[in-house]
Amino acid sequence: MKAEIIAVGTELLLGDITNTNARYLSEQLAGLGTEVYFESVVGDNKDRLLGAFKDSFARADIVITTGGLGPTDDDITKETGAEFFGRELVLDEDALENIKSYFKNRGMSQTNIKQAYVPKGSVVLKNERGTAPGIIIEEQNKILVMLPGPPSEMEYMFENSVKPYLRGREKHIICSRTLRLTGIGESDAAEVIRELMANSTNPTIAPYAKEDGVYFRITARGGSAEECHNLIAPAAEEIYSRLGEYIYGENETTLARAVVNLLIERNISLAVAESLTGGMLSSAIVDIEGVSKIFREGFVTYTNESKADTLGVSRDVLKNYGAVSRETAGEMAKGAAMRAGAELGVATTGIAGGGAVKNPTPNNEDLSYDKPVGRVYLGLYYKGKIITKELNIKGDRQKIRKTAVVRMLDFIRKNVDDELS
Ligand code: ATP
Ligand code: MG
Repeated sequence: MKAEIIAVGTELLLGDITNTNARYLSEQLAGLGTEVYFESVVGDNKDRLLGAFKDSFARADIVITTGGLGPTDDDITKETGAEFFGRELVLDEDALENIKSYFKNRGMSQTNIKQAYVPKGSVVLKNERGTAPGIIIEEQNKILVMLPGPPSEMEYMFENSVKPYLRGREKHIICSRTLRLTGIGESDAAEVIRELMANSTNPTIAPYAKEDGVYFRITARGGSAEECHNLIAPAAEEIYSRLGEYIYGENETTLARAVVNLLIERNISLAVAESLTGGMLSSAIVDIEGVSKIFREGFVTYTNESKADTLGVSRDVLKNYGAVSRETAGEMAKGAAMRAGAELGVATTGIAGGGAVKNPTPNNEDLSYDKPVGRVYLGLYYKGKIITKELNIKGDRQKIRKTAVVRMLDFIRKNVDDELS
């Protein structure tokens, strides 16, 4: 089924309000597997709205409007919808009751009664959050759904009334599976499966760029859950065969969850030493339930003294290479593992920028003056070996710190999973 959205309201055309209703409905319809090719905005004008209905119904089976169901004269959506389908307005007792109970303690004005009139033969959707009922008119495979403008009323009604209604009409069910990747950018990942995405209609494959990586959502339509999953399986397999090394999990599995699961599975104890991430890495790991099986200790060592005293990073290393260096990251990781008695030690150090005073002259105590903002080193100590990685992360202070956490989690995954390392 194809759907279109028409947002009604002169306020929208003037830029007084943002069309968040269209954004919400687009997302919901996409989730239902309903195709949306056009969306429009029309002012509070009967002739132009009639024109919009005509255009939309020439292309789509379902048209959803928001706005213009209120009691005032400029609210004309319902009247226009009724006219478009040649239906008269009749009083709906339930809607009237709902409006009366809404105004129970305040006294109802006559104009509100107008909201209880609905096109003859339509499905009336109770408004749990306001007065104007939603309305569905169905005629010869064309469906007009009219929803109130205020987002809280509209969203509640869509979720609780329209969604079940649309689902009930669908002979098919929609299911989806999300593959989550990290360590590769959205465009690079999409390039690898470009023709697969372009040529797939059932299932469809859509990429999403998220904070912890790139997701590919594979969505299929089938007569049963089993048929649906069988449609998805070959596409997922193909993506695994091309991009498997980047896929850390599926659906709700976060990167931190995937890493913690891996460590629990292999029974590898962990210690974390952090400089620029200041506890965010430990926090991301401790967010995951069951982590006490493997997480030993986290150190936030911000100054050179702390790195030396708490983790045993050698003063020579700090002096010769600086706090932001491969060497320091490596020693921090090893020191954390040693002090905590953990098998695996990991460490972050780097320049997050934004507020840190740069030292204008070289100084033997601080060799980070010449490192650019965004330079980050990851250190990892495992099975007697130190492995490090240099990163150059773009963005502001928080983005750099968050990205460092994600990259560290991926670094753990790559070096601990023997199938990847
Ligand atoms: P009411 O009974 O409140 O008059 P209505 O169904 O007649 O509701 P409108 O009068 O068109 O709806 O809009 C009421 C309010 O709802 C607007 O002032 C605005 O705050 C919000 N609204 C309307 N349309 C949209 C939209 N497309 N996106 C976001 N908000 C909207
Ligand atoms: Mg209104």
